[in-house]
Amino acid sequence: MKFAGKEEHFELRCFGCKQTYNIDDYGKFYQCAKCGNLLEILIISKYSSKAKQLRQGLWKYIDHIPLWDDKNIISIPEGWTSFVECRNAAKILGLKSFFVKFEGLNPTGSFKDRGMTVGVSKAIEQGYKSTMCASTGNTSASLAAYSSRAGIKCIVLVPKGKIAMGKIAQAIAYGAEIYQVEGNFDDSLRVAREICEKDSKILLLNSLNPFRIEGQKTVAFEIAEQLGGRMPDYVVLPVGNGGNISAAWKGFKELSESGIEGSIGAHSSGNLPKMMAVQAEGAAPIARAFKAGKRDSIDPVLDPHTGASAINIGSPVSWMKTLAAIYESGGIADYVSDEEIFAAQKFLASKEGLFVEPASAAPIAYLLKLARAGKSDEYEAMKNSTVVSICTGNGLKDPNAVLKGVSPDQLQTISADAKYLQKILA
Ligand SMILES: [Zn+2]
Repeated sequence: MKFAGKEEHFELRCFGCKQTYNIDDYGKFYQCAKCGNLLEILIISKYSSKAKQLRQGLWKYIDHIPLWDDKNIISIPEGWTSFVECRNAAKILGLKSFFVKFEGLNPTGSFKDRGMTVGVSKAIEQGYKSTMCASTGNTSASLAAYSSRAGIKCIVLVPKGKIAMGKIAQAIAYGAEIYQVEGNFDDSLRVAREICEKDSKILLLNSLNPFRIEGQKTVAFEIAEQLGGRMPDYVVLPVGNGGNISAAWKGFKELSESGIEGSIGAHSSGNLPKMMAVQAEGAAPIARAFKAGKRDSIDPVLDPHTGASAINIGSPVSWMKTLAAIYESGGIADYVSDEEIFAAQKFLASKEGLFVEPASAAPIAYLLKLARAGKSDEYEAMKNSTVVSICTGNGLKDPNAVLKGVSPDQLQTISADAKYLQKILA
């Protein structure tokens, strides 16, 4: 069904100087021609499609998504992930109410599917035959899956030696064309961007693509719906490139401004949540900028290093949007060590049955750190609030992170005799 006139309700705009562009020209350029900043899509007036159809996953929010014809939807489907109340963890963390939004349950095992279903659907609507991304893993797996379903080519650039095997295995299985780039993620992204800027037939689908943000923002709609139509008080999430925190914040703001048809009314859902950005110590340019009180700049980390590969990013593309989300919401940014991240990963798995990838454990590590330290203004405020952690990826993506230092022959071997085991268990 073609949604006549829907495009008039959306606008493509520069995040910096606010210059506006034709939304359907996106892909001919990737940044503001005037100031070089990132572009974003805004809803300028509420759109409501007359004919309501039942759609699966996040496409139930189609009125909030800038796609002009639903025949272009490429969906697996994605979204409507589990929202898990974690009572065991809450008790240890000293929180009254703690939930995990488990984004690792999306079709390719990470939150990236939210952005890719919209990004690739839009690529089809605009007639592209190829997609490209630079990736530390989750993005490539997701883009490869949606491109294969759309029947178009997918080209993936990965930083050599800095990607989890489970993730590259996915991209291979989905049939992507994969190249290892000598250098880090930032080098891969620079190369991908230059290629797509020169070749108008390949669409770049990294998180700077504003259509991806339009998919990712739906996590906010779902959290509010799953909380029974209200806002959480705190949203704690891992930050690498900053696309996800910007998207979630955009979603909460849209929700508070216009509500969701048939689900959550505008203004009725309470105050906006505080956005809490957590980075890994070896890749924490945003947290360090925040701690230094900076609002308008960050110092990129030239050689980022963390075992949490999904957030091993030294020069975050969406740093400006991320700092805006943190300051506007009254949130914070902080970092945790790799040791704390891996301990938190085991904590969440062993206390709640949730096996998340290391990057997703960073927010849990932050909460554990706050609880251990005890008295602090942040912790005191959080204790009696509703805290939601967005766990972005599945632990199965990177089993080696848990298996480090463990080999099968270290597991205790017993004879195939129940009596023998009975003795040991006694
Ligand atoms: Zn601009």
